[in-house]
Amino acid sequence: MTKVDVLGVQFDNYNMRDFLRKVEERFLHGQGTFIVTANPEIVMYAREHDDYARLIDERADMVSADGIGVVKGAAMLGTPLPERVTGYDLMTNLLAWGSEEKMRVYLIGAKADVNEAAVARVQRDYPDLTVVGARDGYFDLSDQKVLADVIAAEPDMVFAALGFPKQENFLNEVKKQLPGAILMGVGGSFDVLSGKAKRAPKLVQNMHMEWLYRLAKQPSRIGRMAVLPQFLRAVRRSNKNK
Ligand code: UDP
Repeated sequence: MTKVDVLGVQFDNYNMRDFLRKVEERFLHGQGTFIVTANPEIVMYAREHDDYARLIDERADMVSADGIGVVKGAAMLGTPLPERVTGYDLMTNLLAWGSEEKMRVYLIGAKADVNEAAVARVQRDYPDLTVVGARDGYFDLSDQKVLADVIAAEPDMVFAALGFPKQENFLNEVKKQLPGAILMGVGGSFDVLSGKAKRAPKLVQNMHMEWLYRLAKQPSRIGRMAVLPQFLRAVRRSNKNK
């Protein structure tokens, strides 16, 4: 099975290595890839917003399981996914590959100082990448100048750290004009890349407790995190109705 349905979102049934290989293979054949890294929050949002669900279904080329919640949900449904393919890890792997291939990258999103620090980090750690453009994420989607600047820069890859659904809506417009590019919404990943926010220690990540670490660092996330039990309840219900 190449796709796994979790509450209406079709996830690609790949581990990190195969996911990357697929994106690379597509690129080398001149095919771009619009990647959505979907966590339980995104899945629940898509259930309530048809236009966003349709965008993921019809416009995204690949969907990864961003977080242990989705992996658990898939297992509960009897259609397990091999592992989580998080947005941050996918982004850094793509940056490393992009550097080897001497690609052109555009980094859009986050606050201006975070964006600048993320660009500096990319230039330091992935020296063979060319950053062809960058800007903060505080603009209106109706601002055509922002979109035009990305298109004119002719990037091979665009990482958009705008939060959902803004990042997917923006990248959908980019895709119409840059069908050969790799486009990916990366949420809060520039905050981590820039060093302004820290990821949980590896041990905590491996215990699948990264969410608890993020909550401890940023207690205001509690409202958003209430989505996880709602998500698991919805999975249980959908299992009963099968
Ligand atoms: N952001 C942005 N423009 C906006 C709203 C948010 O650039 O209009 C940025 C924000 O600064 C942060 C990221 O988008 O860097 C969203 O982070 P969040 O923690 O919500 O994402 P998650 O990783 O949880 O999906």
